[in-house]
Amino acid sequence: MTDLCKITLAKALEGLKAKEFSATELTKAHVSRMEDLSNLNAFITTTPELALQEAQKSDERIQKGEALPLDGIVIANKDLFCTQNVRTTAASKILENFIPPYESTVTQKLKDAGTISLGKLNLDEFAMGSSTLTSHFGSSVNPWRSKKFPDKKLFPGGSSGGSSAIVAAYGALGVTGTDTGGSIRQPASFCGIVGLKPTYGRCSRRGIVAFASSLDQAGPMARTVEDTAILLKVMAGFDPNDATSVNMPVPDYASVLKDGIKGKKIGIPKEYLVEGLDAEMDDFWKKGMKWLEENGAEIINISLPHTKYALPTYYILAPAEASSNLSRYDGVRYGSRVEGSSLDELYENSRSAGFGSEVKRRILIGTYVLSAGYYDAYYLKAQKLRSLISQDFTKAFEKVDMILTPTTPTAAFAIAIGEEPKDPVSMYLNDIFTVTTNLAGLPGISVPCGLSNDGLPLGLQLIGKPFGEEDLIRAGYVIEQAAGFTPLEFKEKY
Ligand code: GLN
Repeated sequence: MTDLCKITLAKALEGLKAKEFSATELTKAHVSRMEDLSNLNAFITTTPELALQEAQKSDERIQKGEALPLDGIVIANKDLFCTQNVRTTAASKILENFIPPYESTVTQKLKDAGTISLGKLNLDEFAMGSSTLTSHFGSSVNPWRSKKFPDKKLFPGGSSGGSSAIVAAYGALGVTGTDTGGSIRQPASFCGIVGLKPTYGRCSRRGIVAFASSLDQAGPMARTVEDTAILLKVMAGFDPNDATSVNMPVPDYASVLKDGIKGKKIGIPKEYLVEGLDAEMDDFWKKGMKWLEENGAEIINISLPHTKYALPTYYILAPAEASSNLSRYDGVRYGSRVEGSSLDELYENSRSAGFGSEVKRRILIGTYVLSAGYYDAYYLKAQKLRSLISQDFTKAFEKVDMILTPTTPTAAFAIAIGEEPKDPVSMYLNDIFTVTTNLAGLPGISVPCGLSNDGLPLGLQLIGKPFGEEDLIRAGYVIEQAAGFTPLEFKEKY
């Protein structure tokens, strides 16, 4: 049965179509795998009975020759997407018992396409973090181990760390993630899978628990570029219920997979050669340039001069928006309530008990940078910098079609669970290569490119023009083929 978990999403689609196995068999295999993988703490809520019911419906449609585009494909959703009648926590204590009466647009689209969800995946609380360390439900575990210290459990990255861990460990064919500053690409890179953050507006944000609304974007994560492309086609599209959703036709992303990159111009931004960039990562970056060149692309040196301001800009704007978005969790409108002797005390008690320390830190920073007297010095300045960062990209894209960078500065997250740094800024530094695309609203993909000397996966990032996802898929596929990345060994348990 476990053999059905080893195949790719694309292969599963073929197998279902050829009736080599049924949706029920495929789902049963994944349900039992999910139990074997419980050590990874990848799920917050599992819905195996629901999955099996849906699988039966898929099989009936397949039998009748009425199969939906992704009928029978087994997925799981980050627990930031509201799912009707299925608990949605955002990994926060304050939403521990929240059962949404509605479904997010993206998960609805996936359901309408016939996919089957195993449940809700772990993340950093309200998607604030890079490791899943801030989850109220405990960290998820990376199924990869370092050769140097094989007994230590490592973080899967974050915030979509439950998502990356379960896909890497063959527990789902593909999953959803969200990316505000790197939360799809960074965990994908740390777990040796593919993660794509689409252009802002490409996927609807309706029904996704909001973190920083001008940066948040949903996207797919899977074991191959092709699988990611297949999922994106279903997830993307206009939604009249999201004011920032863009009304543009959705291409058949997987159809361009093998179109190649002849004549494409790839920019290499010198500012990404930062202090703290691992020598190993740097080597793979150079290899990536070579692979693209060998496949007919032209490598061009470019400059994105405001890159050094991206991280501080992000860590002002994201908390500012979060502080406003999270004001709804007051124990009255949303979130669990802790009574008090006055209304103010009720708010205070509910929020003190319901939010974890990273979320509180961000609410404090956000409120501070938006407050009268500090607004001009911080928030307004950060907004101006955001425009400059965005203009850097616009200028660069006059000369190039895509930009190649490492996804993260270090070779995987060599931090063991329980040994994490106490200082939040060292965690924030992880996002140095990923936040720029969110600030500029651009699409980005992380593709595994190889293993570090310690045997941990590394990822390369491609950044595209607005709505340039097809380019990313073509170039991502070239990297995937050239790299010949060895995926995680399939084991019963990790
Ligand atoms: N690591 C970043 C943060 O903590 C990004 C999170 C995200 O993309 N959701 O804000």
